[in-house]
Order: sequence, then structure tokens, then C-alpha cells
Amino acid sequence: MPRESSTCAESPSDADVYNYAHRAFLQAFLSQSVMTVDEIKPVLAAVLTAHDPTRPSLEGDITQPLITSTVQAINAKIGALDYEIRSARDQTSKTLTYALVNTTSDALTQLATSFTPDEISYVKRLLDYMFETNNTRIREIMAVSTMETTQIARPPPRSRQSQAQTQIEADGDEPTQVQVRDPGLKMQEAEDVLNTLVAQGFFHCSRAGYYSLAPRALMELRAYLKETYNEPPADDDPEDEGITRIHDCEGCREIVTVGVRCSDRDCGVRWHDRCAIQYFRGPRGDTKKCPTCKTGWTGDLFVGERAANTQRRSTGGRNSRRNEEDYEDE
Ligand SMILES: [Zn+2]
Ligand SMILES: [Zn+2]
Repeated sequence: MPRESSTCAESPSDADVYNYAHRAFLQAFLSQSVMTVDEIKPVLAAVLTAHDPTRPSLEGDITQPLITSTVQAINAKIGALDYEIRSARDQTSKTLTYALVNTTSDALTQLATSFTPDEISYVKRLLDYMFETNNTRIREIMAVSTMETTQIARPPPRSRQSQAQTQIEADGDEPTQVQVRDPGLKMQEAEDVLNTLVAQGFFHCSRAGYYSLAPRALMELRAYLKETYNEPPADDDPEDEGITRIHDCEGCREIVTVGVRCSDRDCGVRWHDRCAIQYFRGPRGDTKKCPTCKTGWTGDLFVGERAANTQRRSTGGRNSRRNEEDYEDE
């Protein structure tokens, strides 16, 4: 007998078979985009109850394995459409958050549906500022202050990604390349973009007014950030080590934009605060050493907003990481 016509009531243990409840749950994701486990519980309970009113589900019935199997069943259906529900823990609170993400390689195309091209250019300038300008060997802030967000509302004369857009105009039979200057955004427009990014769960704004990536952005932009900001070593130069601007946590292997780093600034070891505490708990805590370079672990070199208090030694700009190295070597 086909499953659909079964008279047996579907229990939560049937969560791996795609059904009406999964569709309804996916609908909730389409309207919310991001949900924490605590937000998921009442939604899933309501959806399951609507699916089978004879067996009402309460929030307390929604276990982590049930959420996991429900998400897996949905992902099996939507994978072909380049969508996936992913989960990640908030870097500081460690709250488990789920997001419906577009898995195509250029995740910014997802944003392009709700922003104009000029607004997307602004988002790219914000990311450049987070992961290049404010992410140097000395200071890995990986966030943008409110003042900086207004300073880059209009593009600088030369910037990495946000250079003048190239448009192709049909001129007779021969297409001609025409350079179109990106006019940037007015202050109010820039503020609106930031508010939208915060409302959609892409950006987080701290009490001190620093904008950083929220879990949804980290889930969706993971590959994009590494492709854009990490530079692999040149094949023809054995001396070249490349540049790693985006590091994964030594504990949970997720990207660290808020956390702690090895006391040796040349070492690539990064942790989320809680992941480091977990690691150094127990016998390892007696003689704290970096697991890679064995440098004594001080835990007072930060990644994220707290790094903004480290004294500025850079001249800034695109190659500030290298400039700082030169400065230190002098
Ligand atoms: Zn971690
Ligand atoms: Zn180290």
C-alpha cells in the first residue's frame, strides 16, 4: 500500500518521509529565513499538530533529533533547487541557528534579489572593509564601525571589488565596453541597506555600533568569503605562502570572526571563546600551549570588535597586512 494512503497516523518518527508537515515547515523558513532552535520548536509543533490533529504536538515534544531528521528530509527535496537548510552556532552565545541558504557558488546573487546593483556594490564594500581593511595582522576586527559604514557609502577612487561597473553597450554591430562609475549611495540609502541586512539576519549590530556578520551570512557566504579574501600560494613561487584572512576555529571548524587567536601573530590558530575554554579545560589547562606552534597561550589577543582596542600601527589600505609586517620588521 502506498504510504500516502496509509491510515496510520504519521508520528514524529516518520519525520524522514517528506510530507505536508515538511512543506509547511519549509514555508515558515521561506518567510523567516533564519530561526533559532527555540523559534523552531513552536513552529514545528504547530505544523505537526495541523498535520495530525489527533496527536497534538507540544513544544516539549520537539527534540533535536526530530528537528535534524525533519531538516534532512526537506534538504533531500530542495537540494536539486540549490537550496539547503543549514545550521550553525552563534559565535558568542553558541545558540544553534538554522537558515535557508542558496548553495550556488556566488551567494551574493541571493542578496541581489532584494537589492539594486548599487546597493550590492555597497554590501561588497562593507565586506571588503570587514575582511581586508579591518582585518590585518595586528588587528583582526572583522567588523565595520558605524562611522566607517557612512565613509564608504560612496566608493573610494579605487577599490578591490567595487571598481566601476563595466557595461556593454550595443553600438552598431560592435559591442563597446563602457566604464560606468558606481555613484554609491546617499547616507540614508546606506543606512537603509544596513537596517535591512540586520533585519534579515545577515548582519549583527553591536551595542558599540560595530556591524559584523551574523550566523546567516556566515552560513551563506562561507565559500564566497574564503574564495574572495584568502589568497592561495602562487604555484610558481615556493616562497609564497599565500594570505589567509579567513580562519576556521580550531575547535568547531567554523569561520571565526569573533574569538581569540594564538599569541604568535604569525600563527593561524583561531578559536571561538567557548571553543577555546572547552579545549583548555582539564589537563591541557595546566600548561596552555597553542596546539600548532606550541606558543604559550595567553588568550588576550582577540578576533572581532575587541581587537579594535589594539593600537593601530597600520597605514591602512588594501595591503595593510603587508604594510604592518614591514612596519614591525623595521
Ligand atoms: Zn569554534
Ligand atoms: Zn599558534
